[in-house]
Amino acid sequence: MKIYLDNAATTRPCEPAISACFACMAENYGNPSSLHRMGLDAENAVTEARKAIAAALVCDPECITFTSGATECNNTIIFGAAEKMGKRKKKIVISSIEHPSVAKPAKYLEEHGFEVVRIDPMRNGEISAEDFISAVDGNTFLVSCMLVNNETGAINPVRKIFSAVKRAYPDCFTHCDAVQGFLKLPIKASDLCADFITVSAHKVHALKGVGAMYTKKGVKIPPLMYGGGQEKSMRSGTESVPLISAFGAAARALMPTMNSAYENAEAINEYLNSKLKKLPFVTINSTAENKSPFITNFSVEGIRSEIMLHFLESRDIYVSSGSACSKGAHSSVLTAMGISDRLADSAIRVSISRITEKQEIDALIEALEEGHSSLAKTR
Ligand code: PMP
Repeated sequence: MKIYLDNAATTRPCEPAISACFACMAENYGNPSSLHRMGLDAENAVTEARKAIAAALVCDPECITFTSGATECNNTIIFGAAEKMGKRKKKIVISSIEHPSVAKPAKYLEEHGFEVVRIDPMRNGEISAEDFISAVDGNTFLVSCMLVNNETGAINPVRKIFSAVKRAYPDCFTHCDAVQGFLKLPIKASDLCADFITVSAHKVHALKGVGAMYTKKGVKIPPLMYGGGQEKSMRSGTESVPLISAFGAAARALMPTMNSAYENAEAINEYLNSKLKKLPFVTINSTAENKSPFITNFSVEGIRSEIMLHFLESRDIYVSSGSACSKGAHSSVLTAMGISDRLADSAIRVSISRITEKQEIDALIEALEEGHSSLAKTR
């Protein structure tokens, strides 16, 4: 039996998402911009999906723009904000534990005359609101802080940070990458005090290659691409109706059970942590007070991440070494937390989903024990 514990990397598409995608490929394959009925049907599929994503973020559907994924959203927002404000203001404040789709556009801007201030997390992985807020000044045009860190699961005090920033500097843009929190924790766009929020479909049991950005009403930045003017000119290019429709279907399916899924994840997470604490060779790196139950990061003494990852794979158990995007590179997140290279090199990320069961955790623990004893011998 395959045991998939890498849900922060991507998730198994749910049945409603697959059916919606299939229907738009097989039947409803018109171009939403076409003026005939088939065009209208395709447009309606996009409209329905937009409503579903908006409902999940508790905002007006008008605020939702579909893109090719969270990476595109993050790039659009950061470069768009810089283009709009960059002549007058030069400073961006981000956390040092952002996903590369935020960190790298910021780095690019830094190499082109902007100032980027990166706020390190505390030892437990959380960003201190005070540290973040005190770095923002009148020259800052954008702040970006992720809701849930994709490697440790730490939840950042985004609302506290953004509300303070907005109070002091109302024209500073606030952006939250909420990819790992969307449809897991309740997120109300207006509560976050964010001008922009980024979400991705394939992390919520829909498909890869589609995401959405929330833009607060009245906020305007230039787009990344110019073309046919789709998505109110914020994202030109023919809409991927099958992917968008699947995203909407997944959101509709997940929303009503979000709270019970969270409770289930909490129970599984507690079970996992209690088992991990009993293993003398394990150090738990996810120690944030505010933490998503869907992600746990720990280190296995003396065994490099990839070695353990492949051992677990041989037992049909799939986990990650830090984030899938960094493909085995040293985790900058754990390093920023002050975790030693020795522990960072042996880090494993287990990310559960709403369908993870206790037996799967038992199998993981058994395999970790087996892996530790056999791999430690061959070191
Ligand atoms: N932000 C975070 C926090 C993520 O975990 C990911 C996916 N690894 C992304 C952005 C990028 O999402 P996408 O794959 O949709 O581009």
